[in-house]
Amino acid sequence: MFSKKETIIPYTVVACDGCKMTKKTEFAPGDVLFAESECPSCGKTARIEKIFGEAVHS
Ligand SMILES: [Zn+2]
Repeated sequence: MFSKKETIIPYTVVACDGCKMTKKTEFAPGDVLFAESECPSCGKTARIEKIFGEAVHS
């Protein structure tokens, strides 16, 4: 048991309604679901759509 090393990396997915841009970044403290920010490509409102963890084997 527990012989495999597995790390869970949390990711944040930001989606923009204006230009349909989606961006996946590593989760940062303070990121909450549906939090709004300015879209870097069109300047409209982008929203955090998804926060999820991805298992990384090392
Ligand atoms: Zn946009």
